[in-house]
Amino acid sequence: MKYDAVIIGGGLAGLNLGILLQMSGKKTAIFSKGASGLGFSSGNIDLYGGPDWRSGVETITKEEHPYYKIKLDVIEKAAKKFKQIYGDELLFNNGNYFTVNPFGGVNEESEIIQRSMAVEKKKYSGAALLRFPGYGDFPYHFCKEGMEKSERLGNIQIYISRVEIPWRYFLTRSRNLSDYLTQPSVWEEILKEISQISPSYDLIFAPAFLPADSRYSEFRAQMEKASAGRFREIPGSPPSVAGERMSHVLRQRYLENGGTLEKNAPVVGGDWEGKRLRALHVKNYLYPVEAEFFALTTGTFFTGGLVSRIHEVVEPIFNLDVDYIPDTEKWTQERFHDFGGHAFMGFGVKTDSTFRALKDGEPVENLYVAGAILSGFHPLKEKNAGGVSIASSYYVHEKIKQRL
Ligand SMILES: Cc1cc2nc3c(=O)[nH]c(=O)nc-3n(C[C@H](O)[C@H](O)[C@H](O)COP(=O)(O)OP(=O)(O)OC[C@H]3O[C@@H](n4cnc5c(N)ncnc54)[C@H](O)[C@@H]3O)c2cc1C
Repeated sequence: MKYDAVIIGGGLAGLNLGILLQMSGKKTAIFSKGASGLGFSSGNIDLYGGPDWRSGVETITKEEHPYYKIKLDVIEKAAKKFKQIYGDELLFNNGNYFTVNPFGGVNEESEIIQRSMAVEKKKYSGAALLRFPGYGDFPYHFCKEGMEKSERLGNIQIYISRVEIPWRYFLTRSRNLSDYLTQPSVWEEILKEISQISPSYDLIFAPAFLPADSRYSEFRAQMEKASAGRFREIPGSPPSVAGERMSHVLRQRYLENGGTLEKNAPVVGGDWEGKRLRALHVKNYLYPVEAEFFALTTGTFFTGGLVSRIHEVVEPIFNLDVDYIPDTEKWTQERFHDFGGHAFMGFGVKTDSTFRALKDGEPVENLYVAGAILSGFHPLKEKNAGGVSIASSYYVHEKIKQRL
């Protein structure tokens, strides 16, 4: 079978690209190796430094920056389309909302927020932070201290409130917590308990535990009712329930639109005809997979899209041109927590002005690149990680559509 387009990598960029192409009537397949960056993320999307992101994007002058190539109007279209695809459970932050992180830090940067995490900007005096006995993978006390110190939250008092429910397990990860609490019998108990405590607080925070699957909207509505609109989730440690929820929704949309999703299917190489990629080699597949167009959305070091070796960084599938600094000493800053400053975060695959991959200095005719693997931007410093994934995949979908 020959596809219109085959996408390598099923993270935020690959799924968004696949959905957009399927919605345009193109026949696609996604081959993906394993977990994506969404499983680590908050499940909210940063476009560029906060709700005033448009003026930030307009100041970008570096030609190799993905946003310089995409341009503001296309980024806007991409964000709008992403929200449309996702549905009502995502809202645009026009500056009126913030989210809270597990250390009690207030994050005003996310432009697209899952409803159960969006906190309206207003004066609060007291909030509960739900603590679940048996679940220790959340820094309850740091979170309380962080929120109480936060200028944005004023002089808020946080009360850690232990939730009494029938415990049968030791819940090690956030996903275990979510699976357990959303079982019908336990869920009823939780709703009762929250409806009892909610009148005493302005807000009720909890490590994210609403379902990471299609039950989310229904459960969120029940929780809203029980808490009289006071319940808010805080994304927890990986695997992040909120990030997995976003991944689940996107996978569903892709399949509903007729896409072919092959999981546990690492792409290991390709067949070439001059400057054109003809087919992919997928591990354990008997035959090469053919397509008119291909897209590489394999992420960075986390997910194996880039691999660091002594004194070099490589793209392991096709050995594409990678933008990196040969001097290893300059890859990192001395302070680990200098997130924005680490040079390696800006490394990535080089592309031409339309995101075609460069190999030996020349564009590959039919291989596009999107998402975190792109070079030329600094996701943490610029606060645009998710934004680059959805905007570049939108842009690439338009290019492929025009050429098919
Ligand atoms: C801890 C953390 C927190 C974050 N928080 C936020 C946030 O709050 N807001 C925000 O906007 N962004 C956030 N991000 C960033 C955001 O999640 C990522 O930028 C985004 O998910 C990247 O998507 P991607 O599709 O480009 O790549 P990835 O999500 O990395 O997906 C790449 C996919 O390709 C697959 N793959 C790799 N190699 C192969 C191969 N050879 N064959 C087949 N498949 C392959 C991988 O298995 C993976 O599924 C966060 C990231 C991290 C790590």
